[in-house]
Amino acid sequence: MIRADFALRHAGQLATMMAGTDDALGRIRDGALAARAGRVVWVGQDRELESQVRLDGDLLDAQGACVIPGLVDAHTHPVFAGSRADEFAERVSGARYQAQQSGERGIARTVRLTRAAEASTLLELAEARANRFLANGTTTIEAKTGYGLDLDNEAKSLDVLRKLAERTRLRVMPTFLGAHVVPPGAERQAYLRSLIDEMLPAFTPWAVFCDAWCEAPAFTAAETRALLGRAKALGYLLRVHAAQLGPGDGPDIAAELGASSADHLEFATPAQITALAKAGTVAVLCPSANFTTHGPRPPIEAMRDAGLPMAIASDLNPGTSNSESLPMAMSLACVEWGMTPLEALCGATLHAARSLKLDGLAGCLRPGSFADCVVLDVEAPEAIPYYVGVNRVIQTVAGGAVWEPL
Ligand SMILES: [Zn+2]
Repeated sequence: MIRADFALRHAGQLATMMAGTDDALGRIRDGALAARAGRVVWVGQDRELESQVRLDGDLLDAQGACVIPGLVDAHTHPVFAGSRADEFAERVSGARYQAQQSGERGIARTVRLTRAAEASTLLELAEARANRFLANGTTTIEAKTGYGLDLDNEAKSLDVLRKLAERTRLRVMPTFLGAHVVPPGAERQAYLRSLIDEMLPAFTPWAVFCDAWCEAPAFTAAETRALLGRAKALGYLLRVHAAQLGPGDGPDIAAELGASSADHLEFATPAQITALAKAGTVAVLCPSANFTTHGPRPPIEAMRDAGLPMAIASDLNPGTSNSESLPMAMSLACVEWGMTPLEALCGATLHAARSLKLDGLAGCLRPGSFADCVVLDVEAPEAIPYYVGVNRVIQTVAGGAVWEPL
């Protein structure tokens, strides 16, 4: 008998996301799972649970609802203060995002407000965001800094992420994004030196990933190569904000350096897509940000043809996507871009986990994986994007226990 301290029964359909069973979702009808110490120890058909598992702990009855792995959000910016709702309204009336990135508007404005905020305030704001992630079915996030943009304020942001991971049930994979933009008032060369010589070495114990935005209004190709090359030498895994607002070298740099992810990619060329697929990089697509900035459709067909894994992310941030909802991003990926519901679901689970180097641990349900799953009021896992902008999550399970909102 397998010993367990948590079990879930009567999943009408349980998507393990382990292909090779009866379909691409690894679907089990009338499924069940058991966990011990936060890890899955058994997955199978409900009628076999009692004969194979000895449960000493909580039992959750899904009552025929669908169960999927906890969603994995591979691109978020959850440490920030202030609002840019007025900039959203301006864009709806025709203003362009790029034109908002000057003076005291845009990212510079969030940097000013984030620097002025106490760490405790930033943590409270991030905790509220964590609750919204979990309520919408997300159990793992990649979480970027990038609104501090000096040694002290980036350290403050990384400390907020560390405390967030301790205090909430959300799994947090921290990314140092000092190379978001050159901060207001800073001299460009001096800031680059500070990034490379001070911040990158200082933050190796705190951040798993290092990210850079490679295009105007942020960093040039040469600057991005220098930064990310140094980050790689220091042991960071890499992510790149690439080809979001126009064509550029970002995707090439991601491929050259073997980045874990290249993100946005609206303007990626076929050659760049082939290079990313060869490098084993995951494309992290951000439909909500694309939607609110009226961006062009990314080259989905070319990615599909190249076998480039496509993750779907919320890109939670105050400028272009103030949304923790991955199901909403999945709906947009389907409706706006023609991704299939199956692609969107794989994108918010398997491929997102791969981009975070959590293959086999997150975004799937199998013995050894995190006991993170979501019970949803949908007729099938593929129906999630069909419910546009409505939260169909009944319960979120994180680390082998039902999550309760505070
Ligand atoms: Zn971003």
